[in-house]
Amino acid sequence: MTFAVKGLAVTKGIAIGRAVLIGSSHMDVAHYFIEPCQVESEIARVASARDTVADELRRLQKNISNAPRKDTPPELIAVLDVHLMLLEDTMLADGVKTLITDRLYNAEWALITQLEVVVRQFDEMEDEYLRERKADLEQVVDRILRVMLGQVPVLANKGELPEPINVQETQVLRPGHDDPLVLVAHDLSPADMLQFKQSVFKGFVTDVGGQTSHTAIVARSMGIPAVVGARLASTIIRQDDWVVIDGDGGVVVVNPSTMLLEEYGFQQRERELEQSRLTRLRFTPCMTVDGLHIQLLANIEQPADTEQALKVGAVGVGLFRSEFLFMGRHSKGLSPLPDEEEQFKAYKTAVEGMKGLPVTIRTVDIGADKPLERMAKEDGHLNPALGLRAIRWSLSEPTMFLTQLRAILRASVFGKVKILIPMLCSASEIKQTLALIQKAKDQLDASGQSYGVVSIGAMIEVPAAALTLPLFLKHFDFLSIGTNDLIQYTLAIDRADEAVSHLYDPVHPAILQLIANVIREGARLGKEVSLCGEMAGDVTLTRLLLGLGLTSFSMHPAQILSVKKEILRSDRGQLQELAQQVLESENPYEALGWLK
Ligand code: PEP
Ligand code: MG
Repeated sequence: MTFAVKGLAVTKGIAIGRAVLIGSSHMDVAHYFIEPCQVESEIARVASARDTVADELRRLQKNISNAPRKDTPPELIAVLDVHLMLLEDTMLADGVKTLITDRLYNAEWALITQLEVVVRQFDEMEDEYLRERKADLEQVVDRILRVMLGQVPVLANKGELPEPINVQETQVLRPGHDDPLVLVAHDLSPADMLQFKQSVFKGFVTDVGGQTSHTAIVARSMGIPAVVGARLASTIIRQDDWVVIDGDGGVVVVNPSTMLLEEYGFQQRERELEQSRLTRLRFTPCMTVDGLHIQLLANIEQPADTEQALKVGAVGVGLFRSEFLFMGRHSKGLSPLPDEEEQFKAYKTAVEGMKGLPVTIRTVDIGADKPLERMAKEDGHLNPALGLRAIRWSLSEPTMFLTQLRAILRASVFGKVKILIPMLCSASEIKQTLALIQKAKDQLDASGQSYGVVSIGAMIEVPAAALTLPLFLKHFDFLSIGTNDLIQYTLAIDRADEAVSHLYDPVHPAILQLIANVIREGARLGKEVSLCGEMAGDVTLTRLLLGLGLTSFSMHPAQILSVKKEILRSDRGQLQELAQQVLESENPYEALGWLK
């Protein structure tokens, strides 16, 4: 049956593929793609864990039969029988093997995916007794996973009633070898998202998240169609369903009819054509019709992203979100925090990757929807976005902060580096930050390590900063407006909460006035002002921002060419007056139409 789920559009475009549900199981396991040469060993890993569990169950059965205790429920032996039968049946093993071989899933991921497929088949059975056996199956898989994760298998709950079943009636999933895949999840952390960045997924859908949540931002950087905030998507879409992700409309169509598929396929080809036309603009100088040069910079999360930035003609990196070096480390078996050498290597790679163009490295912005793994576990705070986040965390962990500052400073020997500080609010934070930057330099001097000339900038992303600009302009070489947070904090709207996403308004008069003021004051004092929030990459706002005087935009590489196209057709002189009218209008959305 065809049905549609509505969400929030994150990245434009159409993706068509089979659904891969992540993390929908109650078991939390790692999901990653293996190399083809690892297929055999992954299959062997599952087989060996399954054998261990089977041995364990047989031993238990034997112990019970040899020395029956009064309090041993008679059903227990039969439960063990059922579990052994499920373990030995091929329905799990065959599907798991196929998923590992054809899709290159790691063993744990293959196991829970196949579990979901078989559970679904149990759910569809008419026989109530058989339907109820799915709990046994889940326990068996849970045991196998525990062995694989190095934990001791846990005995079944005594209350469950066993009886032999004919498991041969169920069918085994045989996914098509070359089918395109799309990712469906309740939620994905930004770190998980990053892990899938280089993967095969053609699009993704999550139940939760706002348009500027960090998960959405990373998805946007992947340049693939995505919908977030689709509420129940991960519960009603099933493993392997055909899914169309319509990133333009923010809609997910499940099991589309042939006619719908044809229509979406047509739109998909149109968009691909438009993308290939855009690549021709790559080397065109970015200039308005009236000759004003506009700087288009890239936002990156990893050093490797510099390759894509250069490919689309970015003239530098305006925002390197360094916190991604600090996240998702546990699952990769890394130390909780990256040390100075690891960070230095990452920053140096990014700087060298940009081949002499400037790289703005933002110091770690951990907290809120980008927690450290250890923070996520301990954090019981109600408002993490208002808590120990970004520079607040850095100032509370001076050793960590100094380590990062030294690593960034050392990388400046290899190219043009700028340091950007997130979420500054007050004179005292500015003072402490600048003192620590000086201390990091002193430490490098003392150990005879060199560094280059590094300009220091502040993000303007809390209203307090936007309203005390002279202080920031006095102490910093440049400013970068973080509209994602500026909107969140000015309008009191959690950017990660889809329930209030309709209130997230980039053209609210309060926001436009703050942005206009920062640009104007920066220009007056001859300090560079850039804008690096998601607004910078939104083509519907490009002409407004130009009219407000913005000359430096930083966005995900995937958005650069569309924004450039808009700039090339704009006359800044004409837009200034119109932008002023939008600024003063009570209905900015209507007023935006004047700028078209
Ligand atoms: C912003 O807040 O606009 C910004 C660019 O930083 P982040 O999205 O990483 O919070
Ligand atoms: Mg921010």
